[in-house]
Amino acid sequence: MNFEKYIINVPDFPIKGIQFKDITGLIGDGEAFHAAISELAEFSRLLNATKVVGPDARGFITGAPVAALLQVGFIPVRKPGKLPREVLTYDYDLEYGHNTLCMHKDAISKGDRVVIMDDLLATGGTMEATIKLVEAAGGEVVGLGFLIELSELKGRARLKNFPIKVLIQY
Ligand code: AMP
Repeated sequence: MNFEKYIINVPDFPIKGIQFKDITGLIGDGEAFHAAISELAEFSRLLNATKVVGPDARGFITGAPVAALLQVGFIPVRKPGKLPREVLTYDYDLEYGHNTLCMHKDAISKGDRVVIMDDLLATGGTMEATIKLVEAAGGEVVGLGFLIELSELKGRARLKNFPIKVLIQY
């Protein structure tokens, strides 16, 4: 399927100079959404994934349906103050400022084979932080899946130890 035709390019959002890749056209079309999730689920199935992890918030949109199709658990990674029980946290630097992500401490069992799903790979910082959380919890990251990759930002170079599935490359 040609997934690219469902992505809407929005110039200067959320700030001037950024071209935002709006996935709502893709997830708003039942056939396209199902086809995209099926491809990511097949990739995860071949890796024998036992858990799917997705970072806040568009990682929920891609990760949760993949987990449901595979009949494995979905684990949300969230900003501080959102998860109600004891968490592992990871701080990382952004181009300007820094960010913190959290995951429930008991969400992953030692030996779990984890795939991580997000909507878009840009610099790879979000994915790298999510990998650190999964590894700190004792899980093995076996693959990474995205709807979109912005190749010129070279996120893939930071994630070179992992199999990566991408549906649309720019
Ligand atoms: P990064 O950590 O730099 O790889 O950025 C990835 C995260 O930022 C993803 O969760 C995306 O949702 C979001 N993101 C970054 N750049 C864009 C963009 N151009 N359009 C839409 N979302 C973006």
